[in-house]
Amino acid sequence: MRIIRTIDELRDASRSAASIGLVPTMGALHEGHLSLVRAARAENELVVVSVFVNPTQFNDPADLAAYPRTEARDADLAASAGADLVFAPNAAEMYPEGHATSVHVTGPITEVLEGASRPGHFDGVATVVAKLLIAAQATRAYFGQKDAQQLLVVQRLVRDLRLPTEIVPCPTSRETDGLARSSRNERLSAPDRAVALAIPRALAAAAVVLAAGETRASALVSTVTGVLAEAGLEPEYVAIVDPETLVRRVTVEAPVLCAIATRVGDVRLIDNEILVPAGG
Ligand code: AMP
Repeated sequence: MRIIRTIDELRDASRSAASIGLVPTMGALHEGHLSLVRAARAENELVVVSVFVNPTQFNDPADLAAYPRTEARDADLAASAGADLVFAPNAAEMYPEGHATSVHVTGPITEVLEGASRPGHFDGVATVVAKLLIAAQATRAYFGQKDAQQLLVVQRLVRDLRLPTEIVPCPTSRETDGLARSSRNERLSAPDRAVALAIPRALAAAAVVLAAGETRASALVSTVTGVLAEAGLEPEYVAIVDPETLVRRVTVEAPVLCAIATRVGDVRLIDNEILVPAGG
């Protein structure tokens, strides 16, 4: 697997390809990332996986320091899923001395949920994604529904900046027991891993209540918080929102996004599902 470190090399590598599929990641690759790489492989001549633990999207220095870094293994896994090259720049390559440009997406999609919990997070995401899409000259870029809000922010910035990249959403990849795959799962102790299963259980419980005819968002939130509480979890947020605008829904008469953030031990996990009302 070829690993390249500079934006100039990335531009050179992508110049001759008819189509370029980019999979932006922060490394510690797992099956969820690899599902994106396979989707990219199926649709593009050149497949690039970027591995960059982007410091500007971490509001908690301890979280940044604890983020797993497994580059050699990442390169092998990316190759096994069909990637052609890994772009793994260091922070100085992405943010050289004097770097002063930031991409800021306004409105509810950056202000609520993760935006409210993690100040500055989406500025970091939007800036690095814009830089990566431009550097790779990406025809398509692949993002997971696991980070539903991030996907909306990226779709917004691509539309607003008229970047010539198609954003391809990919479904959340889950372990067989339902836990959404995440690089952070590695940091869960065995007992905490079992506790974390309350998250997909809570999403499934909300889906059942909704399918049975409940239309009050508050009732769905109670269902979710109840399942989490049984496992001893106190979520940072449980939200029932419009899947496109992230505006809170009071009644549920069309599909909604149910989003959860909670700490399990000292590991912060997020998950979400689109829930469809009865007859919807
Ligand atoms: P990350 O390395 O966590 O920044 O994630 C890189 C990309 O992989 C993002 O588009 C994520 O949404 C996506 N991703 C992470 N985990 C999953 C998963 N379990 N299923 C699908 N996509 C995922």
